[in-house]
Amino acid sequence: MFRLLIWLLLGYIGFRIIKTLTAPKKPLSSSSTHHTGEETVQDPICKMYLAKEDAIVGTLNGTRHYFCSMDCLEKFREQLDHTHQS
Ligand SMILES: [Zn+2]
Repeated sequence: MFRLLIWLLLGYIGFRIIKTLTAPKKPLSSSSTHHTGEETVQDPICKMYLAKEDAIVGTLNGTRHYFCSMDCLEKFREQLDHTHQS
């Protein structure tokens, strides 16, 4: 009976070790968008954050807006038109 418990314990430990070894490794360094000294802007359409230098700048109604792509800029422009019409 005691022997059986030992074997069960060893089996459990072995299982845990194998599980740890086979577990997918998570990347240690997460690619953060918040670099030091780099200004981050938010796309008002898809809500994603991007570096100001990578963003597409659209000046609409005298206000500067930053977009990740031309698609988002167009969507924003459409939304503005829509709100002005109604
Ligand atoms: Zn976008």
